[in-house]
Amino acid sequence: MSTELLTDATLKKALQAISNKACTCAVGVCAAWESLPEERWPKAQMTHIGTLRDPDIDEPTFEQHHTIVDGKLTHYDSPDAPISTQHFPYNRCDMHKCKACDRVLLKYTEYGGYFVDQRVRWARIIPA
Ligand SMILES: [Zn+2]
Repeated sequence: MSTELLTDATLKKALQAISNKACTCAVGVCAAWESLPEERWPKAQMTHIGTLRDPDIDEPTFEQHHTIVDGKLTHYDSPDAPISTQHFPYNRCDMHKCKACDRVLLKYTEYGGYFVDQRVRWARIIPA
């Protein structure tokens, strides 16, 4: 299986090619980052379609990229936070397509002091 590294441009193109229809699967909407235990991840219905993690970068940046939406700066948990492949946490995500609802989902592992957490977000075109 080939693992394609996706840039902002290729990601946008990939997202334009798919429908943004409503989710019907067990993952839930995941409009913003959601914690999803590995046992709740429906692996059988997911197709791994690429990665945003550049293999040439040992330690991707923790810097985040945000924009102002409706007069307020977006933050990590914002459903309208921009998806920027060069910034945290997108720079360590894998991209999966759900066979049940046709959506593309981003997934990465969050390493806290005492926990390891799987986080999932619906990848879609977010108007700037
Ligand atoms: Zn689904």
